Order: sequence, then C-alpha cells, then structure tokens
Amino acid sequence: MAKKKIIPGAAIPPEEGRTLTIDGKDYLELNDAMHTFYRRTMGEHSPFFFAMRDEKKIIGAKCTECGIVRVPPMADYCPDCNFAVTEAIDVADPGKMLSTPPITYFAHSLFQEQVPFGRGRVILDGADTALSINVYTTTGILVPGIFHKGTEIKLVFRDKRVGRVSDVFGLPASELSEEQLATKGLQEKDISWEAATEPKMPKAGAKSKSVFEKTLKAMQQVVADLNDCERAKKDIAGWKRTILVKTPGGNCTIRIDDGDLSIKKGGTTKQDFVMVAKKPNTILNGLAYKGSLTEAIMMADLWISKNIEFMTVFKLERMARSLARSRK
Ligand SMILES: [Zn+2]
Repeated sequence: MAKKKIIPGAAIPPEEGRTLTIDGKDYLELNDAMHTFYRRTMGEHSPFFFAMRDEKKIIGAKCTECGIVRVPPMADYCPDCNFAVTEAIDVADPGKMLSTPPITYFAHSLFQEQVPFGRGRVILDGADTALSINVYTTTGILVPGIFHKGTEIKLVFRDKRVGRVSDVFGLPASELSEEQLATKGLQEKDISWEAATEPKMPKAGAKSKSVFEKTLKAMQQVVADLNDCERAKKDIAGWKRTILVKTPGGNCTIRIDDGDLSIKKGGTTKQDFVMVAKKPNTILNGLAYKGSLTEAIMMADLWISKNIEFMTVFKLERMARSLARSRK
C-alpha cells in the first residue's frame, strides 16, 4: 500500500517557474521550496491517540479526587486538586456541540481536500471538557444551520487512522439510524453518503421552462467558450465528473472529461453528484464569471449532493476565471 505523504502532491508546485514582466523588463521567477520536517512525540498523551487509532475508543483522564473527566486527557495530574493523580477511563462517543461551529470553505492547500468542514468543540457524554473536531453532514453540502450549540453528534472514526485528532469527525446524531448510534467505534465505511436529501423544487410552470431553455442556450455558449480556452481546459486536466443539474424548468448534464467540458440538455443516471439550482441563472453566472458558484452554495442558492464535490465546483469556478483572464 502506498504511504501517504505529510505534504500531498497537489500542494507541491511544479519545478518550472514563470516570467514576470515589471516595468517592461522580464524577470525569471522559479518555484523553490523550503521545508522543515520534525518528529513530534505525543509523550504521555500517547494512550489517547493509541486508543483512537487502534481501538476506536476515546479515553479521558478522570481525577481521583474531584472526579472531573478531561477529554482529551491533557493532564495526568489534576491542577485543581493539588495534583492528584488521574485515571484513564473510556468515554462515550456521542456528545453535544459546545458552540455553533464555524464552517471553512476556503482552506490552505493542506486542508483543501477536506472543505467545506465545520470546526467545533464537542463535549462527549461522560466528559467535562471539550474535544476539537471537524463536523460534516450526510445531507449534502455543509451549510450553516445544520450544527448549533447543543446539537447532538456522534463521533465517526476514519477508516484509515494514523493517531491524529483528524482520525475522528462528527455527524449530527439525527442523520444516523438507531443501530449506527448504538455502534461503538462507528466507522466512515458504515455511513451512507449517498442519502443526501435534495432541496424541494418549486413546481415547473410554462415560464420556468422557457427560462430554462433560454438559460441552457446561454450556458451552452459559455461552455463552448470555456472549452476553447486552453488555460481553462488546464483547470480540469485529469478530472472526470458527470454532474446532473436540476432546475425547476428542466435538467441538464455537465460533463468534465480530462480537459474537456460539455453540457447537454436532459438528465443522466450516471452522475457522480447532483446540483440543484432554483434559478438556472446561478449556474450560468458562475460559469460566465458574473457570479460565484461557491458563494451561491454558501447562500443556499445552489445545492450539491456531496460535500467532497465542492472541489469540483472550485474547478469550474477556476475555469471561469481563467477564461476571463485570458480575455484581458
Ligand atoms: Zn481534581
């Protein structure tokens, strides 16, 4: 099995550089790197990380004097009880959010594969202190309103665990079955990510059909322009996705095929994910660089069925920007 690197390949710039022209003079700018790697021991906190990695368990430190349970077990001796010893105890993996987690949509390269994610602190049942975790949803793209202070969550363990806090993440308990909630050490592979609930669509009238037809024509023109632009094509090199786009007046299918972008009228059953736009203009404007698809997602004007496909939306948006820049 290939070992995962600390710095993912996508974060490493290509060896070549670029030519910068400043005041009419050309300068060569090369990509270089300066790395510092270091080893970090988890020391006396190792049992916490071992338990998480190897046993899918969360352990806390319980003070033998006052009984406070600290999770993560950041102290072996209770600072409140004249440094009385603590004992390791198992805590449950459901819990409640301590506050409303902010959502990160734009992360730096190391976390780009995880966006969007909520970052919040959870008090696990049986614990007195909070654990910082990422939170997600199975209902589609993560948007504000899913998690609040007090939302009940369940910890889910990554299938591949290395001994970092990112080995676990939280899902709203309301999205899981009784059986899943009762499972200790619930794993990522036990979760259905295909069960996203599409937003309700307004009923299609004659007007929305004609709006769709008109918008589709305009989208086909924009897609043709994008597909003629070398710079934009590079943005989807190596990427393959079939997107079923639903709007009140009709459906269309956008296909990304390793540097080629196409759009056709009508749906598909072979989609990688679904996009729902109550106004087809939202997608047209995004592709035409007159609006932002990612912003539309944040404002709940555009919905996508899989959180991880935010990356694909990024790529479409990058294409739009590349075309706009190449026309300057
Ligand atoms: Zn104590």
